[in-house]
Amino acid sequence: MASPRTDTNKLKVLIVGSGLAGLTAARVLRPHHAVTVYERGDASVATGGQGIVLGSNGAKIMRTLGWDAARVGAVPIRRFGLFDGDNKPTERVADMRLADRYGADMFAQKRSDLRDELLRLATAPSVELGIAGAPAVMVYNNAVVGLDPEEGVVTLSDGSTAAGDVVIVADGIHSRLRSTIAGEGCPQAKKTGLSVYRVAVSLDEANRALGDLAPPPWWEPRNAQVFVHGPEGSRRFATTYPFRNHTGFNFSCILVTQMSSRSTTESWHADGDRDKMLEYFGWDEGLRRILGAAAEVKTWELQDLEPLPTWTRGRAMLIGDAAHAMTPLQGQGANMSIEDAEGFRLLNSEEGTRREDVPALLRRIESVRRPRAESAVARTRDTHARLSITESMESNADFFYSYDGIYAALAEREAAE
Ligand SMILES: Cc1cc2nc3c(=O)[nH]c(=O)nc-3n(C[C@H](O)[C@H](O)[C@H](O)COP(=O)(O)OP(=O)(O)OC[C@H]3O[C@@H](n4cnc5c(N)ncnc54)[C@H](O)[C@@H]3O)c2cc1C
Repeated sequence: MASPRTDTNKLKVLIVGSGLAGLTAARVLRPHHAVTVYERGDASVATGGQGIVLGSNGAKIMRTLGWDAARVGAVPIRRFGLFDGDNKPTERVADMRLADRYGADMFAQKRSDLRDELLRLATAPSVELGIAGAPAVMVYNNAVVGLDPEEGVVTLSDGSTAAGDVVIVADGIHSRLRSTIAGEGCPQAKKTGLSVYRVAVSLDEANRALGDLAPPPWWEPRNAQVFVHGPEGSRRFATTYPFRNHTGFNFSCILVTQMSSRSTTESWHADGDRDKMLEYFGWDEGLRRILGAAAEVKTWELQDLEPLPTWTRGRAMLIGDAAHAMTPLQGQGANMSIEDAEGFRLLNSEEGTRREDVPALLRRIESVRRPRAESAVARTRDTHARLSITESMESNADFFYSYDGIYAALAEREAAE
């Protein structure tokens, strides 16, 4: 266990948003600093029952923070399969050997399980986690409505203010605070022309819905992610992977946007039209029945963000979707958020970090994180036109999965200079 620090060398860290980025940052910093997380919603915000995939990069970092695949029933994804509109396999990747190549498998889990586990890692008693320091303090139902990045002061929706040595802005794709750091007129999230329906079904529900119909050849993938493409020329595919020890399955059904909604601020919880989803993705009776078994249907018009001129100003820094929103076509948005949060290890010096050192340290973190995340957005965009994932997954594997954290990235850069 790291040696306990005295209060005098602790920074006061304010985090805006209790999504995946904010909670990971809270867990990274809590052993060394006094962390408060402000969340505009309540404790159950930003969950949602669908799945999420941690790549080897995210999984390696999460393990160092106490995340344990077995505890959350995360399923290692080792194989990939691609099927055409006639359910014929067109491509199979038997085993990507990610653990051998990069030090961790890729893991699929229920999104709400990941968020709940991050909340535990950020707020459980230190003795339970075997770490130093104090739990992060959560303040719910209080949005941050203003930020002075130079002073590190936030204004809350209840009219109060709070002052910190560091302000981490992790308020998501529709960040309200982005422009206070990146400047008035900075890019905001834009629609990409792609939409997704997302559902989760339990194995039992799906098998009941299939009834006496012979299951499609791709059904019930064990430790695998499969992509089921629509009829030739349809530019639609459904992808599925298991979670919770194979008792549930995520389906993401991606298509070119058919009917655009005017709003660009859809939340994680936009309800989708089940009949429309089945109309677009019901080309196969098996797929239609399994999707139809889902208790809830969510939909998003997928958006991403042009590169920002900066992620830092004074003692404030943007991370997560607020800094680099990307579509899920490479499954890297949350992984990049976890990588960003891990970067705050640079503030965890055993000698203590002084308030006056914070702005330069944030810029140093940004110098690693911003170019990498911009490349992740560009690589993800590159898959939009082709709507083909397996090919780019392999060609991008080294880039995404070999990342080993901020210290390794800095050492690699310094060795190359
Ligand atoms: C359909 C879909 C599938 C995806 N699948 C994957 C995947 O498999 N793998 C992957 O790596 N990524 C995936 N992603 C991307 C991933 O979900 C996001 O990148 C990730 O959730 C970003 O986390 P975040 O913490 O930055 O933002 P969020 O999770 O959106 O959290 C932001 C938080 O800030 C709060 N907030 C907002 N404004 C304020 C305010 N003013 N004051 C206080 N609190 C505020 C919000 O309530 C919220 O809790 C997917 C995305 C989509 C749309």
